[in-house]
Amino acid sequence: MTKASANKGFTLIELLVVIAIIAILSACLMPALSSATDRARVTQCRSNLTHIAIGLRMYFNDQGAYPDELQRLTEAGFITDDSILLCTKTGVPYYYSQPTPDTPIDELIIACVAPDTPQGQRPHSYRNSFVGLQKGGKLLEVGR
Ligand SMILES: [Zn+2]
Repeated sequence: MTKASANKGFTLIELLVVIAIIAILSACLMPALSSATDRARVTQCRSNLTHIAIGLRMYFNDQGAYPDELQRLTEAGFITDDSILLCTKTGVPYYYSQPTPDTPIDELIIACVAPDTPQGQRPHSYRNSFVGLQKGGKLLEVGR
């Protein structure tokens, strides 16, 4: 074996070092990437709740009362895409509490989960928060 042919390509050690460096770098980037994914899901939930709020307002103007469940909005044609009735993180239908004339303006009527769900069981931002809509139309990210 000549000296020139012995220097061709990488040695096993060099290859392992490169793989180790790639593994370390990707481990550093993972939290940033999953955090960005979660922020995108929160934004999508906010968008869903905004659409549902508009649908609710139209339903109220049409029927004179709020629907007993959110599914009525699709049945009445105010929402055409059922998938916006689901939290983007859990895929579970949004919590909905039918508002009455006595419901306070700052009470959450729609949310990713029931508003009394403790931290650690909430869907967004590492289980600390959820998105909710108040009766008055204000959107909140609770727990953030
Ligand atoms: Zn959500």
